[in-house]
Amino acid sequence: AKHEGRNNYQYYSPDLERASQERLYLGNSLHHALQRTEFQVFYQFKSSLSTHKVTGFEAVLRWEHPRRGQLQPDQFIPILDESGLIVPVSRWLTHTSFMQHAKWKAKGLIEKDAKIAVNVSPRLLRDPYFIRGLANSIQDSKIDPTSVIIEITETALLEHSEQTTDALNGLKRIGVAISLDDFGTGFSSLTHLKRYPIDQIKIDRSFVQNLLKDSGDKAIVKAVIVLAKSLKLTVVAEGVEDKATLDYLASLNCDEYQGFYLNKPQPAEEIENLLLNGLQL
Ligand code: C2E
Ligand code: CA
Ligand code: CA
Ligand code: CA
Repeated sequence: AKHEGRNNYQYYSPDLERASQERLYLGNSLHHALQRTEFQVFYQFKSSLSTHKVTGFEAVLRWEHPRRGQLQPDQFIPILDESGLIVPVSRWLTHTSFMQHAKWKAKGLIEKDAKIAVNVSPRLLRDPYFIRGLANSIQDSKIDPTSVIIEITETALLEHSEQTTDALNGLKRIGVAISLDDFGTGFSSLTHLKRYPIDQIKIDRSFVQNLLKDSGDKAIVKAVIVLAKSLKLTVVAEGVEDKATLDYLASLNCDEYQGFYLNKPQPAEEIENLLLNGLQL
């Protein structure tokens, strides 16, 4: 410890210091990243467990940092969120992915009712201009609002504020679907289902990863699928990495899945090549 005595909670830690310096550095370079087009949108397939067709995509953010190389969302979304830069960056991602979806549809590469899903952070959800911005992106890209899914993590709903209710009702009003991401990891998952206009549940990867080996995970996943069905929600399993897990989920009548078994999030050009060459699902 650097100091003893009254401030004895101020331990000196080189690791912590390095981490906070890195955060500061990334925070500073974030300000230029949007103008310099260092961000990229990657796409991951969502696929039907019954028809094995592509039902849509989830768009995720990547940052090609000039010095650090490709950064994953976990490394910079929290900084984006705190700084408020998440607002313009998400607007850019939304616009880009909607235009991409429209392009693939025009080329006949995806089904007419294929969906595009984007992630919305708690901060963005509370932004008073978020809904209007989204409506503008929908208009500009001429995408059908029913093709749009907004993924909201359970933690975003932790504050049961009027603001949250208003935002979710606003989303329903413009006609997009709401997906509850990372389902099961929050403290009040069932309350959320009761309180908010949810259309889809995404079973968190942590329940899917060891599904075949863990009887507890099996029980939970089975129950969530039954629950989703009886509430008339679609249910998506995330983090499917092998065929055996896929088959098991199909036997439980899970609607859709995502995961490395099918693909990792990839840039638009790679996705387009896969679509052109006929995915082997
Ligand atoms: P998420 O929404 O739960 O996204 C799924 C994450 O799981 C992605 O990581 C994806 O690469 C990973 N994943 C998908 N299938 C598998 C699998 O089979 N195995 C394993 N091990 N992992 C799999 P990614 O792209 O690093 O994103 C991490 C999180 O960052 C996302 O979690 C989401 O919460 C957040 N995020 C990503 N893009 C955005 C964005 O544009 N805005 C906001 N607010 N958050 C974003
Ligand atoms: Ca998501
Ligand atoms: Ca998730
Ligand atoms: Ca997650």
